[in-house]
Amino acid sequence: PEEAAHPQRTAIIDLDAISENVAALRSVARSDDLMAVVKADGYSHGLVQAARAALAGGATFLGAAVLEEAFALREAGIDAPVFAWLASPGAPYAEAIRRDIQLAAYSTDQLADIARAAADAGRPARLHLKVDTGMWRGGAAPADWPELVRTARRAEQDGLVEVVGVWSHLACADEPGHPSIAAQLAVFDEAVAVARAAGLRPRYRHIANSAATLSLPESHFDLVRPGISVYGINPLPPEARDGLPRLRPAMTLAASVVQTKRAPAGSGISYGHTQRTERETTLAVVPLGYADGVFRSASSAGPVQLGGSRYRVAGRVCMDQFVVDVGDDEVAAGDRVVLFGDGDAPTAEEWAVAAGTIPYEVLTRIGPRVPRTYI
Ligand code: PLP
Repeated sequence: PEEAAHPQRTAIIDLDAISENVAALRSVARSDDLMAVVKADGYSHGLVQAARAALAGGATFLGAAVLEEAFALREAGIDAPVFAWLASPGAPYAEAIRRDIQLAAYSTDQLADIARAAADAGRPARLHLKVDTGMWRGGAAPADWPELVRTARRAEQDGLVEVVGVWSHLACADEPGHPSIAAQLAVFDEAVAVARAAGLRPRYRHIANSAATLSLPESHFDLVRPGISVYGINPLPPEARDGLPRLRPAMTLAASVVQTKRAPAGSGISYGHTQRTERETTLAVVPLGYADGVFRSASSAGPVQLGGSRYRVAGRVCMDQFVVDVGDDEVAAGDRVVLFGDGDAPTAEEWAVAAGTIPYEVLTRIGPRVPRTYI
């Protein structure tokens, strides 16, 4: 593996892990199609790099949240199907249609905007109609669904849109057996039936995120939409992971120790002196901080691996750095510290627990100041 010239602070990204994870997800998916979700800079792994690795692993679609992400994929020369699902009034729909970005419609107003843009672009918009099956986030509420469907059908007959999908999103897929899951799937089935009765022929019915892709085959329909699992994190609780393929975390967040020094017992460490050394000890300075995405809420808690041993953040995480108490162990400036990664390194899940958040946020907060190294 090739390392950056100055791996002082780096997120090392194993693109083969992304490809292998996608292949593993394809092996469990009943659907013919898989949309690798690459929004949020590929969950911090790099939008374009993650997209290419996912396509190499067998993804047939790429999922973006906002249009800028979809445009960046096209600018990189990626011509795979791209779906972008989050846009407010005034979004550059005509440009999206010209660039063959598949769009979501949540409401009749949005559909009208997209239809006008299609007329400007001179070609029909490929649309996935979103039904809100019970998350109460985006999409047409069931009461508004029949009207959205009828409006879409008329726009289709006018040659302005082509309804290629009907989709939704699950609120509690990572809690297998949660009663909302079956309830949402029932609403989804009914919404698809209403769409078909109105004359629509959506090729892609989709609702499954990673958790549903891994644990809920009846939610796979024509396409699954995994995100976090593409990057090697299984969002299911450990007891629900039996029999599932092991996913490989694609990112290792590592740095090089800046300085070590001995501190006497009772030394207050970092801002606020929230933690003191219990005995004479060695303190090591690590050059990553909350401006890089190391959670300040993981102060005195976040795990690191240094020279094969595990330690915790000592005291508060600062903007650019934090301190680790390594006791009497031999640690020197320049030694490699791993915050999270694969193998016996701490995991992003452990950091999430330490910070009081979820691994999604641990990954997506890794800031632009951390150089990415691709292996
Ligand atoms: N589909 C949609 C609409 C999403 O917003 C997301 C991300 O939250 C995903 C799929 C992927 O979810 P996950 O990362 O849990 O697999």
